[in-house]
Amino acid sequence: MTSQMNEKFARVKGFVFDMDGTLILGDKKNNNMAMLPGAADFINLLKGKGIPYVVMTNGTARSPSDYVKVLSDAGIPMNENTMMTPSSVAADYLVKQGYKRIMVLGCPGVWEPLADLGLEIVLSSIENPGPVDAVYIGWYREFGFKDIENAWLAIRDGAELYTASDVPFFATANGPGIGTSCALAAALKPLTGKDAIVLGKPSSHAIESAARHLGLEVNEIAVVGDDADLEVPMAKNNGALAIYVHTGTGGPNAFDDRPQATWPDISVTNVGELMALYQDSE
Ligand SMILES: [Mg+2]
Repeated sequence: MTSQMNEKFARVKGFVFDMDGTLILGDKKNNNMAMLPGAADFINLLKGKGIPYVVMTNGTARSPSDYVKVLSDAGIPMNENTMMTPSSVAADYLVKQGYKRIMVLGCPGVWEPLADLGLEIVLSSIENPGPVDAVYIGWYREFGFKDIENAWLAIRDGAELYTASDVPFFATANGPGIGTSCALAAALKPLTGKDAIVLGKPSSHAIESAARHLGLEVNEIAVVGDDADLEVPMAKNNGALAIYVHTGTGGPNAFDDRPQATWPDISVTNVGELMALYQDSE
């Protein structure tokens, strides 16, 4: 058992952690965070050993710097370099495409990382937004009909459609919360005929961006997460080590009815148990 673990961890030079359901649990509005077992201890251990890590949430309710504060307040050592959201990936990706003007369906946490990289932000709620290169959807509980209408017009006129996430639910302390970007992308599908391109997890854009951020190859990374449809497939489909924790959306039985090829490389009750395995492997 231990030698198997040694083998699994041998190529791991850095960690990508999910946030909700893996490190912490919040309520349905993504407030009132509570730490999950072992989260702060394990990240403190990595920090002490100089092993790079980044927390990559699929949430865009807040900007990366706001999440840094939330996690720091919860006792997890964080700084600007250890936090990514789908908007961190999107900012990087949209600039690389040569886009200049982006229509955003989202709160400030969605568009701030894009604005920080120099993209011009056009909010979907304004009158006559004019032409844009792309439409990007994130966390946006306040949306109305004008947002749908402006996004439809922009896409009809040639803008590409991107979304932070296309996953319906995320883990909260009160059960599943609805992913607003998934709901909005779904609303636009029959109007535009377009599937939104996902930039957050489980896309390869997300893990490649995390690897670049850590200064590592994708196959040198371990991805730790609670969602059988997000972190585990993102890791497995791109050659990273997939570590599944039971503290969030899926629980211990999420893979029971799935083909063995989709199973995580390591399945543990929580990050505390992962820490024990990791220490034993050394
Ligand atoms: Mg999660």
